[in-house]
Amino acid sequence: MSITYIDHIDLKGKRVFIRVDFNVPLSDDKKVSDDTRIKAALPTINYAIEKEAKIILASHLGRPKGKIVNDMSLKPVADHLSSLLNKKVNFVPDTIGEMVQNEISSLKEKDVILLENLRFYPGEEKNDPEFSKQLASLCDIYINDAFGAVHRAHASTVGMVRYVKEKGAGFLIKKELKYLGEALSNPKRPFVAMLGGAKVSDKIGVIENLLTKVDKLLIGGGMAYTFLKAQGVEIGNSLLETDKVGLAKNLLKEANQNGIEVLLPEDHLIAKKVDAKAETKAISNKEIPSGWMGVDIGEKTIEKFSFIIKEAKTVFWNGPMGIFEIEAFSRGTMMIAKALAESNAISIVGGGDSVAAINKAKVAQKITHISTGGGASLEFLEGKKLPGIAILEE
Ligand code: AMP
Repeated sequence: MSITYIDHIDLKGKRVFIRVDFNVPLSDDKKVSDDTRIKAALPTINYAIEKEAKIILASHLGRPKGKIVNDMSLKPVADHLSSLLNKKVNFVPDTIGEMVQNEISSLKEKDVILLENLRFYPGEEKNDPEFSKQLASLCDIYINDAFGAVHRAHASTVGMVRYVKEKGAGFLIKKELKYLGEALSNPKRPFVAMLGGAKVSDKIGVIENLLTKVDKLLIGGGMAYTFLKAQGVEIGNSLLETDKVGLAKNLLKEANQNGIEVLLPEDHLIAKKVDAKAETKAISNKEIPSGWMGVDIGEKTIEKFSFIIKEAKTVFWNGPMGIFEIEAFSRGTMMIAKALAESNAISIVGGGDSVAAINKAKVAQKITHISTGGGASLEFLEGKKLPGIAILEE
């Protein structure tokens, strides 16, 4: 079965539970400091308002581990959402139970409420049937638009869905599945994937799956050093996952057998340590002297990767090219973000750090699709079934 989207469901006067991903960063004074995820859910929320539904929004925030943690309350998010929608969003300081039921029974068409953090109840992450039933009893229609949470089988993403009469997905999930799905099943070629970030181990599944799909794989960031080591290159004190060198060797061999070009950094910015004030040096070859570590890709690599991005028709990017949180080590990541923005390729960026890099480079407007779900987009690209999507297809 395929997914029914919200625009194919009659919402008028119905109690519509929308699972959103409002897991946003809050500042010390409890203000939303990055509202990208909230804005991403607006098309679905606005659509439900327009169709005169009674709207119940629910999300998790952080990892309270089944307990009430005041710092992780969604109250500030309700206030922020009110200003984005230009409409009062009532915050309900609980998730299930009589008080919530009462609030919902007094809802009028077009009203919007936001429930408290789902993860204040242990039943959420445990996908507990009782908790799921209680959530389901709040609504007539279930809509999931929390792409960032669909790789988790929790009560609000999976458990409750079976107990609700009608189910579907929102516009954000539709958009995510369109871009990520097309990249995997029918990409415009050349299709280039660019992976960076700290760990090879986090991205093995993605690399393995992409090695059957892409034309070129560009690897930068900390994970590149394990691959360089696998090629016998000296990497000094650079980040290394010793136990993954054999695997990196196998992946490079497999790529070669599949006729996929894997490009690793050819030059680097090196530093004595991970510190903004550390001594640094730009070196024009692969080998890193002992006592030094690679903290960013070098100029030749930037140029080469940028050229490949320019020639590509589809590019997927996950993971920074260097320790970009430190200004002095951020040039490679910033230049790659700009190259992606200037390319005519369909550009898809997934993963918190790459999205942060895109925002830092101020090029978000020029990216075709910025995925709101780091973990979910990676699992999707690994070819895994996402439980929150699978249940909507049942
Ligand atoms: P990930 O979450 O796996 O995408 O990793 C992101 C992290 O990788 C960022 O915090 C970067 O600072 C880090 N990173 C990128 N390049 C390097 C590098 N050359 N050495 C160490 N860490 C790196």
